[in-house]
Amino acid sequence: MSDPKSLYQEVILDHNRKPRNFGTLEHASHKAEGHNPLCGDHIGLALKLNGDAIEGIAFHGEACAICKASASMMTATVKGKTRQDAETLIREFRDMATGKLDLQRQPHHLGRLAVFAGVRDLPVRVKCAILPWHTLHAALNSVASTSTEADEDPMHATIGDA
Ligand code: ZN
Repeated sequence: MSDPKSLYQEVILDHNRKPRNFGTLEHASHKAEGHNPLCGDHIGLALKLNGDAIEGIAFHGEACAICKASASMMTATVKGKTRQDAETLIREFRDMATGKLDLQRQPHHLGRLAVFAGVRDLPVRVKCAILPWHTLHAALNSVASTSTEADEDPMHATIGDA
């Protein structure tokens, strides 16, 4: 069994060295920008939906290691999935990062994304990990810009002031 902490570090390093789906996307149908003023993370996300399926996805921007790794893994995970599956993952990831989802006891679809469960013990990093998911939610719902600090943000209340 590998130690969850070292697996987490390994995944973060790997996705920072070789971010998946990093860059621009041609013929994007949905786009959103996400900001996390607390850390200075900024990512832009572009999606290409074919009906309800996420056919293409790409991200760019300046973000810390946790945010970039989360964005990279997110794009790799949701590519080819439906909008509904993506929304389920967004909810589950957010609940995991904020400590509301007990991965051992509750059913979930997070798979390797479970390495991010450790951020719930690092309150300042929770928003870094959540930002890409938050931005995906905005893009799927055609909200052009989102911030982890925005009042109108549908996730603000659940993220809290950590
Ligand atoms: Zn960050």
